[in-house]
Amino acid sequence: MEALTKFAMTGPLFHRSLLQLLACAFLLPHAALTQNEKAFAHQQQEAEINARIARWMMQAAGVRDVSGYNVSFYHLALRVEPADQTIAGILTMEARAAIDALREVQLDLFANMSVDQVGGAAASFSRQGDVLTLTLDRSYSSGEVFQVRIQYSGAPTLTGFASFAFVQHATGPIIASLSEPYYARTWWPCKDSPADKADSLYMDINVPSDLMAISNGTLDSSVTANGRTTFYWRHRYPITTYLVSVAISNYASINDTYTFSDGTRMPLRYFVFPQALEIATSDLADTPDMLDYFNSVFGDYPFKNEKYGMAQFAWAGGMEHQTITSLGSFGDYLVAHELAHQWWGDMISPSTWKDIWLNEGFATYAEALYAGHRGGASAYHAYMQRLDTTFPGTVVVNDTTSLNVVFSRTVYRKGAWVLHMLRAQIGEPTFFDLLKRYGSDPRYRFGNATTQDFQNLAESLSGQDLDWFFDQWLQREGRPTLRFAWKYEPHGELLLRVLQEQRGETYRLPITVAAIAGNDTTFFATEFNTKCQNLSFALAQAPAQVAIDPDNWVLETQQPVDFDVFTEDCSLLPQNFALEKAYPNPFQPSASHLAVTFSLAATAEVKLSVYDLTGRLVRTIFRGRLPAGEHNFLAWDGRDDGRRAVSTGVYLLVLEGDANTRAAQKVLVVK
Ligand SMILES: [Zn+2]
Repeated sequence: MEALTKFAMTGPLFHRSLLQLLACAFLLPHAALTQNEKAFAHQQQEAEINARIARWMMQAAGVRDVSGYNVSFYHLALRVEPADQTIAGILTMEARAAIDALREVQLDLFANMSVDQVGGAAASFSRQGDVLTLTLDRSYSSGEVFQVRIQYSGAPTLTGFASFAFVQHATGPIIASLSEPYYARTWWPCKDSPADKADSLYMDINVPSDLMAISNGTLDSSVTANGRTTFYWRHRYPITTYLVSVAISNYASINDTYTFSDGTRMPLRYFVFPQALEIATSDLADTPDMLDYFNSVFGDYPFKNEKYGMAQFAWAGGMEHQTITSLGSFGDYLVAHELAHQWWGDMISPSTWKDIWLNEGFATYAEALYAGHRGGASAYHAYMQRLDTTFPGTVVVNDTTSLNVVFSRTVYRKGAWVLHMLRAQIGEPTFFDLLKRYGSDPRYRFGNATTQDFQNLAESLSGQDLDWFFDQWLQREGRPTLRFAWKYEPHGELLLRVLQEQRGETYRLPITVAAIAGNDTTFFATEFNTKCQNLSFALAQAPAQVAIDPDNWVLETQQPVDFDVFTEDCSLLPQNFALEKAYPNPFQPSASHLAVTFSLAATAEVKLSVYDLTGRLVRTIFRGRLPAGEHNFLAWDGRDDGRRAVSTGVYLLVLEGDANTRAAQKVLVVK
């Protein structure tokens, strides 16, 4: 899923007509964005959900026990009434007893929906909160298959991101589901848990004949009678409840065909509002290229016997419904994100919502991979750079009752960074091998996986123990903050001093250090792994600059400080600034300006001036407040404050800071 706009859906208290206004309003501003803004707009804001109400909803859902059975098949026949915003359905569920003497099964269904009748192996039912309990006609032993039928109806509660919304767009209604993570139960009775996939799904959706009803899989047939049409969708791949989709509108359709490298031809089906037909036709034309690329790095699209589809809906973002992504707009990176989810989220779903980064971190990382496919390594790195922001909380989610936490930017973007770093850690070929092996491993393919499963596979392919890696990046908040200083010793040694300033444990950071001398850069592979570290590297020539992690493969922030004020045990000396050598010296004002570099260990009020040897102030070059870090000034043109050229001789360049700190350096002015 990907939210483009702050979309404060607040559950049952949220008024429908207000939602309609908002949903329409959200569609407009995106059209005004430039291509570049469009590409990244969806990264700017994550969905803001009222966590309090989400928690309340979960509590109201009650505690249910669904461990006694495994679902094998859902067949939902749904009648949708746009006029009064109600639905009526008959769900047939086939399941297999997972325990002996199974007499009762529980399903999730919101309390406001009426259960009108049950049948099949269900003899009777009872309700408690959002739990529907079916009493079976007899006792079933482990492994036995049974089929229950539930006839129900009502006006679905609108909650979560937009669980089941009746909305208007400019030329017609749009009725669509977005159940993730646990709101399928608002509109159909099911075992609403990502870990139990049905082997297949049938959806018969009955709507007024002027509308089309779109769902997962292949359209077997449609039958029109008495002003109503029933669309018979058949999906014959394992699917979890939150990926089941209904999208109903006066759609226009775009049809294309994709051919896989093995010759398999697959329909591409896009369903868009009539007024969006032109823009969607042009924007979605890149989808085959995305499929080419993702097939090459992830293995073939998982549902190739059916289709890849996209259906427009009114929510500002996208949702990776299996084989039929719902889209609010058609930006390339939104389309790429949702397409990537067909592998990561749909084909392999998280066992629990704690591991949602296996969906969102992967799909977000796929955007960066796709950027690299289009624009090369620099575009890939630029994309990763844009994903870097502040990261509250942990990537593996501890509080799965809060939608804000489950779908936080930490899950999406830091999750993507974890994969970026893993690529550097285990090496390019192993990393891409890992993606393919993870996708094809029968333990996970068309099933579920946990973070531990993914880690185990990464470890077995790389031959590395990666506990430390996954622990520090997934279970820990924040990131390392580095303070470092370097010095070149003329006997051929580069000294590097690094402090890990962040609170708590030290990170283990395999990292590259680059010593740059003109066009000559020497790289050193090293590891930062203690609080304060003194490293030395043999280096033949003095570098002009030393860079830590020059290609940005590690999620850290860094601040250089002057070596002279950074002691061997990584404490900063009390003076808060240091003046580097001015250049050139001697200095000929007619030929160049005098360049001065100084570093501040902290933000400070500073004054940079020139005095003559008698102590008379000749020129004030700079006076003001500067942030910590290195500052470069093309400082002095050899003139005094009255703009007159000074005479040849020795002058003092003086840097003065807070608390009577002072550094001076002699410069020789020549003609
Ligand atoms: Zn997503």
